[in-house]
Amino acid sequence: MTDIDRRTFVGGLAAGTGALAAGGPGHAAVTMTARGAEVSGGGGSPQQPRRRQGDLLEPAFHPLPLGSIRPRGWLARQLRIQADGLSGHLDEFWPDVANSQWFGGDAEGWERAPYWLDGVIPLAWTLDDARLQQKVSGHIGTIVERQRPDGWYGPYPADAGARAYDLWAILLANKMLAQYHDATGDERVFGAVEASLRALARKVEQAPLYNWGRYRWFEGLIPVFYVYRRTRQQWLLELAHRLREQGFDYAAFYRGEDVTSPTPRRGLWTWAKHVVNTGMAVKAGALAWRLSGSEEDRTEPARMLALLDRYHGQVTGMFTGDECLAGRNPIQGSELCAVVEFLYSLDQAVAVLGDPALADRLERVAFNALPATFTPDMWAHQYDQQVNQVQCTHNPDHMWTTNGPESNFYGLEPNYGCCTANMHQGWPKLAAHLWMQTPDDGLAAVAYAPSEARVAPHGAPVTVTLDTDYPFRERLDITVAAERAVRFPLLLRVPGWSERPVLQVEGAGDVALEPGTFHRVEREWTGATRLSLAFPMRARVTLRYNEAAAVERGPLVYSLAPAEEWTRINADTPGRELPHGDFEVRPASAWNYGLVLPENDPAAGLEFAERPVGERPFAPEGAGMVARARGRLLPNWKLAHGWAGEIAPGLAQSSEPLEDLTLIPYGCSNIRVTEFPRVAG
Ligand SMILES: [Zn+2]
Repeated sequence: MTDIDRRTFVGGLAAGTGALAAGGPGHAAVTMTARGAEVSGGGGSPQQPRRRQGDLLEPAFHPLPLGSIRPRGWLARQLRIQADGLSGHLDEFWPDVANSQWFGGDAEGWERAPYWLDGVIPLAWTLDDARLQQKVSGHIGTIVERQRPDGWYGPYPADAGARAYDLWAILLANKMLAQYHDATGDERVFGAVEASLRALARKVEQAPLYNWGRYRWFEGLIPVFYVYRRTRQQWLLELAHRLREQGFDYAAFYRGEDVTSPTPRRGLWTWAKHVVNTGMAVKAGALAWRLSGSEEDRTEPARMLALLDRYHGQVTGMFTGDECLAGRNPIQGSELCAVVEFLYSLDQAVAVLGDPALADRLERVAFNALPATFTPDMWAHQYDQQVNQVQCTHNPDHMWTTNGPESNFYGLEPNYGCCTANMHQGWPKLAAHLWMQTPDDGLAAVAYAPSEARVAPHGAPVTVTLDTDYPFRERLDITVAAERAVRFPLLLRVPGWSERPVLQVEGAGDVALEPGTFHRVEREWTGATRLSLAFPMRARVTLRYNEAAAVERGPLVYSLAPAEEWTRINADTPGRELPHGDFEVRPASAWNYGLVLPENDPAAGLEFAERPVGERPFAPEGAGMVARARGRLLPNWKLAHGWAGEIAPGLAQSSEPLEDLTLIPYGCSNIRVTEFPRVAG
């Protein structure tokens, strides 16, 4: 089957999205000692014998308290764009949040306000934005004040004890409120979460989870583990086991046949193949492993990802789902909720398992699929993004599996409002999980973006800063500033795709690093110590669906972005007042090119050039790195159902002239071609 047989052309490098199996426990970091400096390496795997916390196994890393990590450089600009866009203002005009039952109103009273807060809490405390913090605190105060003596939050129906009630929103709300407690230490909120979990524990004894609660049971483990870590109450572990028993068994589903087939156009919607549930479930095994200690649970995320890549994978590291798993065709879409939930799952899974390949995946999705699906000002988003997305229009002739005609234009709530509520967690949770704490009071660089982490190993205040334009550059400069001398390990993730990566510690020689590991630097840190990392990125061309070619370099995927023609639509629809309008985008220049790629070394024809990283880092004009390729127009490659037509396998022929083409990072594009036909030179 050629459509599931992606080959990697270049240099023996494993393709990034398929490399998960190479990581994980036992894939220990290189042991090294640098001359002339007190630097030692080795034992670099974060997988250590696990102490038990009661019945709960210790994770490889703990996330740092919310607010310990601050963005710098392009990441600070991106989070500021987000706070100034829809995220910072949704509660001011969108009825399902502004008038939410959670806040005492009469609009939606289920998942939408908790979703928004789940993203805006880490945004406000990561940015240290006083206005946003004050606004969030007001909303949280209302939620807590309206909690009933029986532990249920305000929107829970008074007669819910006597009838069915889907508990998903309770799992979500407690996950959100635990973050608020983490950021503020507000004991009133901690008490509210504990009381709600007690009510939940009583409820699941009477009526088991069903529908969304059943398919998202593992989200409940996050607040349960959070409260358990601070109180060690055994009933919490009993609740965790009960949620698992009542929850859907994804591991069993992924051993079956159904998950391997794409949902057909206008096909059947199912819970188990729902793309958001899928993105969320990638962490299920990792979280369950803390309860069970079973090898099957520990390896479940890797098994799920391998299967998703094989049958539904996209070059961005995502899988398709519009709204159910939809195969590898680059014109099937991926829902924004699935992107942000998958990112959060990867945060959680890498924290528990310490597998550097999961962090490679985290960066790949975060730097490609996440930014691509927003307008550069982050006021508008899509429901579904496509890897080959040459126009974004209201399209009744769409080929989505179960979504509607609005799903890929940029707007306030295209297709359905879940993403409008849930999109906010993407960037802030990435920022909040860039650095994590190791069990031996060290610090791990899990994912890389310009940032600063303030920690206190053994009580000594330490600030670690990372200055870099990664992923648009290969060099990362780290400064460790210790107020007094203190010994702790610094673990540096070495991306699996990096070629001859090197660490230089101030005053010492270069140290060769091993890709796909955490490299451990353990020493006494005193004053300010500078380290620099180089992660050389080599271009690679991968063959994907119907043998179409995709260009990758480091964690970034590159796309041809045609000129854009924007049209405002739905101007008279309530809520679409600018700046939060709806927009269609059509190509204003040709998009239908094939790439000319040398048969024996396809990446040899590509050249990369640095550009300044823009004020808006993920806008077409802000692209910090571009690729030059050569191609020919393919007049027979046309729109079908309003979208880029299917690519035929094999080498295309064209008598059109050879042209120089510029490709930009996928995440910078609004419309794009990413999987190209190959055309004869
Ligand atoms: Zn959604």
